[in-house]
Amino acid sequence: MESIPLVHASLGEQELAAVAEVFASGWPAGQGPRGKALEAQLTQKYGVGDAVAVSNCGAALHLALLALGVKPGDEVIVADYTFPAPAQAVRYLDAVPVFADVRPDTGTIDPQAVADLVTARTVGMIAVDTVGLPADYTQLQQIADRHGLFVVEDAACAVGATYQGREAGALAEVGCLSFHGRKGATSGEGGALLAADAKIGADARLRSSFGIGSIFDISEVVGLPIPEFTEIGYNFKLSDIAAAILQVQLGRIGELLARRTAVAARYGELLAGEDLLTVPHVPEDRTHAWQSYMVTLDAGVDRAAVAAELRAQGIGCGHGTWATHVQPVFESKQTCPVSADLFRRNLAIPMHAELSADQVERVVTALRSAVRTHSASSKALGGAA
Ligand SMILES: *Cc1c(COP(=O)(O)O)cnc(C)c1O
Repeated sequence: MESIPLVHASLGEQELAAVAEVFASGWPAGQGPRGKALEAQLTQKYGVGDAVAVSNCGAALHLALLALGVKPGDEVIVADYTFPAPAQAVRYLDAVPVFADVRPDTGTIDPQAVADLVTARTVGMIAVDTVGLPADYTQLQQIADRHGLFVVEDAACAVGATYQGREAGALAEVGCLSFHGRKGATSGEGGALLAADAKIGADARLRSSFGIGSIFDISEVVGLPIPEFTEIGYNFKLSDIAAAILQVQLGRIGELLARRTAVAARYGELLAGEDLLTVPHVPEDRTHAWQSYMVTLDAGVDRAAVAAELRAQGIGCGHGTWATHVQPVFESKQTCPVSADLFRRNLAIPMHAELSADQVERVVTALRSAVRTHSASSKALGGAA
């Protein structure tokens, strides 16, 4: 039987041609002509003060917190239901991640939970656009303004999404994007930091290259300028090879997102009447980038059994994302019941731009049958439709 993968990166001839150009140019490393062109493209697309191309979103989050001046012992409130990169980034700086529970209907950080967690040691928050759905930035910004906190938007999954007509990634003073192979636009690995304030961007760019400016720029200067190292930095640069791929991917984002949106709409239609699961809710004031499509299974459905049955038929699926506070590394004593519940019950089903209408129907048929077979009430239902 033909298998239907959970995710599939849409990379092809156009991206290959862009890579060939970089090979011919002789500058495959970072912060060269392609990296600069990508940064200019991002700055323009997002209407921000600066955009810094970096090696991944984890690096972007790290650089964001450094540029915002987070110090050891500071508390940073993070969305709990997410790939745990935000809390990890807080820990890179020996600061304290404080986990905020999420809305049950969207899985995004709950503004009321944030408001309740603010203390004298809180310096800011990292909101997450959960698998591509933007959080409640209007309310989050109000809380931030009231207490003098920063807001970082982890838009790792949200390239192409919108909130109240604005682009995800530019919904807070700093936005972090991922171009990992499982996201909507990809160069295999990659990321970007978007900053409203150009000074934040400049700080991040400097620290992304060992604390000195672009080696490409230095090599272009006539004479022998010898740059000095003034900061401890990292090597978080994005290669020009990856930048070239991303320029093509960003040009295709409308087309790729339209295809994922059509898949989501069809799943929504076909699964609407299924009372053993809930399909994703997208509030009226925002659009979803559909990095993943997660259904929430009824509490009486055996998720592991459903997943095993789908996988046995070659249909990719997974648990979706994580409740961060229960990850052993954080040794948290907090509870985030909504996040923990979504972590137990959500199931991610195939979502990418290459899915055909037939494949979507096959997934739905298999899922419908599996949830009925593996629900606590399956005997009572007697398999009826
Ligand atoms: C994927 C992801 C990251 C990590 O992105 P990388 O580019 O792999 O570092 C961070 N945050 C969220 C919400 C993610 O989904």
